Amino acid sequence: MHELSLAQGIIQVIEEELEKRKEKGTVQKINLRIGQLSCVEPEALLFSFGFCSKETQCENAVLNIEKVPLACECQNCGKNFLPKEAIFICPDCKSCRIKILSGEEFYIDSFEIE
Ligand SMILES: [Zn+2]
Repeated sequence: MHELSLAQGIIQVIEEELEKRKEKGTVQKINLRIGQLSCVEPEALLFSFGFCSKETQCENAVLNIEKVPLACECQNCGKNFLPKEAIFICPDCKSCRIKILSGEEFYIDSFEIE
């Protein structure tokens, strides 16, 4: 299950960071950014996280998931746009040479410790 390994990854990254900072507190909140195209199911991630975080410093952490919309850039005329319904055509010049700028990411933006 994809979300299970993601949840384990989040906890691992944060625990390493806490160790680096010699931080003994518990994590209260984790801010995540998830792109529209990253295929992460927030509910499955929350469930996996609850399961994986038991007896870690992340046990009581709330996951704050921010969804990043899909953004594209036309490689023909340089226009940036948000495609509707995953149709990758530039609205200005109708070119199909499109680069995806955002929407594929998944990362920890920040976290709060108490
Ligand atoms: Zn264009």
